[in-house]
Amino acid sequence: MKCCSCKSEKLIFYKKYAYWDNSVLKEKFTDLGIYQCQTCDLIQVNHSEIDSEILDCYYVESYRGSGFNVYSPEMEGWFLARAAALTNEVKRHFTVQNKAPNSLKVFEFGAGYGYNLLEIRSLFPNAELSTNELDLHCVETLRANNIQVTSIKDHFNDIFVLSHVLEHFVNPLSIIDEICKQLNTNGLIIIEVPNDHFLDLKITNEPHLSFFNKRSLSHLFKENYKDRLEVLDVYTSGPEGKEYFSGPQGISYFLSKEPPAPVDFSNRWNGDEGICLRIILRKL
Ligand SMILES: [Zn+2]
Repeated sequence: MKCCSCKSEKLIFYKKYAYWDNSVLKEKFTDLGIYQCQTCDLIQVNHSEIDSEILDCYYVESYRGSGFNVYSPEMEGWFLARAAALTNEVKRHFTVQNKAPNSLKVFEFGAGYGYNLLEIRSLFPNAELSTNELDLHCVETLRANNIQVTSIKDHFNDIFVLSHVLEHFVNPLSIIDEICKQLNTNGLIIIEVPNDHFLDLKITNEPHLSFFNKRSLSHLFKENYKDRLEVLDVYTSGPEGKEYFSGPQGISYFLSKEPPAPVDFSNRWNGDEGICLRIILRKL
């Protein structure tokens, strides 16, 4: 087994993968183990045991494999708060330069129901918005909102958004390689993943395949992409993880799959405290 980020073979067993009860993922990939890379710190399942095609089928059946009802008011509040925070990062770091604003292209990997893209549209009302969302339930809503559902290929973009998707891929580097090819110079990548500094406090690992913390996420980009991408910012945000995952709200959330009350995602912690981890990158 090799680390899916730094390719090191120095991995040690961390723990057994914790599935939901009656899990489809467990049916497809039984007895996954979680390993920690001794070189870059990335905690990950044994990626060689995952078949990408089977994994794609799994995601077509369920929005990000979670089965959450994103139409509940609480969950919608959660997605809107995140969309506002990510759009703020676009405002902070993206300069239109010599381009006509109506020629801007924004692509979100696995956009779900499109909350992030629609919020970015409030900044650039005429930008072309696209996604490669797999979940068929979402596709109808996306198209109704004039968001193209397409593949990433031959589609040069100015901004890429990956909100809670990088941790779902068998090979995160192949996704970033593809994005680098399809991103214009000075273009922006905004990535948010769960901060798995709190991995041991979570009662399930599903359906994630990689478990990033600030160090391993920074390492992935600084080591593999230093000639292609500049790291503009990396920080944690959202509720404090220790309280969130140990407190009654966190536990009931994971046991019931009910969404928690809406939270603020626009804050920034100095250290590893937040449940979300963001990295903002610029194409060189
Ligand atoms: Zn590694």
